[in-house]
Amino acid sequence: MREDTIAAIGTPLGEGGIGIVRVSGPDAIRIAKKVFLPRKRQDWAEGPGYRLFYGYAVDPENGAVIDEVLLSFMRAPYSYTTEDVVEVNCHGGFLAVRKVLEALLRAGARLAEPGEFTQRAFLGGRIDLCQAEAVLDVIRAVTEEGLRVAQGQLQGHLSREIRTLREEAVALLAAVEAGIDFPDDVPGPAREEVIQDLRALRERGEALLANATAGAVYRDGVVTVLAGKANVGKSSLLNALAGRERAIVTALPGTTRDIVEDIVNVNGVPLRVLDTAGIREAVEEVERIGVARAREALATAQLVIVVLDAETGITGEDEAVFRASAERERIVVVNKVDRVAEPLPPEVIRPLAAEAPVVYLSALTGAGLDRLREAISEKVFGGRVLRPDEVLVSRVRHREALERFVGRIKTAEEGLSGGLPEDVASLDLRAAVAALGEITGETVTEDVVEGIFRDFCVGK
Ligand code: GDP
Repeated sequence: MREDTIAAIGTPLGEGGIGIVRVSGPDAIRIAKKVFLPRKRQDWAEGPGYRLFYGYAVDPENGAVIDEVLLSFMRAPYSYTTEDVVEVNCHGGFLAVRKVLEALLRAGARLAEPGEFTQRAFLGGRIDLCQAEAVLDVIRAVTEEGLRVAQGQLQGHLSREIRTLREEAVALLAAVEAGIDFPDDVPGPAREEVIQDLRALRERGEALLANATAGAVYRDGVVTVLAGKANVGKSSLLNALAGRERAIVTALPGTTRDIVEDIVNVNGVPLRVLDTAGIREAVEEVERIGVARAREALATAQLVIVVLDAETGITGEDEAVFRASAERERIVVVNKVDRVAEPLPPEVIRPLAAEAPVVYLSALTGAGLDRLREAISEKVFGGRVLRPDEVLVSRVRHREALERFVGRIKTAEEGLSGGLPEDVASLDLRAAVAALGEITGETVTEDVVEGIFRDFCVGK
């Protein structure tokens, strides 16, 4: 249990029906008592909590009414943070919530750091580290698939998978080490058996890794650039793809995403179409290739959709776009097929982008759009079909730890097969166990934990 009591605004600032200020820590109730004046003169803090109390938030120094509020409290350990938690629902907007927060700070709470409520839930043992990370992923999810993956992780699906794997690795390690330490009393497992167990562990790690690409796609989206000359139909295509599901995400200072992008949901795959306006202009000028923005966009994109015009055919500008995107994963779209009897044959395109699938469509009529959607899924998932209940690894941090796990297990396996002594293998196995512990937070440094929560907003 932490010693100090923290407070922060839990809802976004701005005009809204309600705003919520949260307080957590051993003094939460004592502090709230100084600020909350119940309408009925009841001793609200004596009760069991988990109820709403109606009253006023008042200035702790002079008793002046700040706002009409509803207050609730949850007693440790049955709360979000596992500590005593008080929530004050006041009117939304800029001032009322701020003033309620200030009153609570004057009454003895400290302003919470970013992510500190969730960090306390982790330190209190209610959730593990990858569940804490999932909280942020739930908040930031932009597609249903992304939300489903994040919810699964929050509910502990990934944690359970990792924990079982870790327990089995620990059991194997214990058996191997007992054989080394007490060779006379405890005969270690036969070498062949250990190798087999290691292989089974490795394969389970590899199976999880196989889903990491899909997990990352659902969580982070696919950074995509629509490239092509002016008037080829890039905005029309974006709108057609997006339908009603288009979301424009703008700069939020202090978050990791500080560029403007359109998020378009294509068969559950969130395409993050970068800074469409800016890059579009720049890509159009790709011929005068001094345009740094276009180069950069094309260089960082995970997917480039090169849009051609069926009517004009391939021009010098198109060739420049092909050259500038040569290193990227790409799909070629021949747009405006409704305007011509015979659109560009694939033979004309192949010399410019031999590897890329070619899709004929009309952004205007919608004909052929489904084929583009399929081509995108195919590119992103490589034809892999996911079961709906599949546990997905979605964070780079988790993927890297799993890769280390698999790598160390493999080294142990190879060492034993090659005749190295058991104690060498046991060192690798020990490192493999530690790598898994990093995911759930059992074996993780303070810095890593701090880094994870720094990504959160204040109040979460
Ligand atoms: P951008 O400059 O590449 O973004 O191109 P726009 O999306 O603004 O489209 C340029 C023009 O082409 C607009 O007048 C569109 O209505 C038209 N256009 C786009 N796609 C099609 C299509 O598939 N068929 C036809 N007939 N017109 C299209």
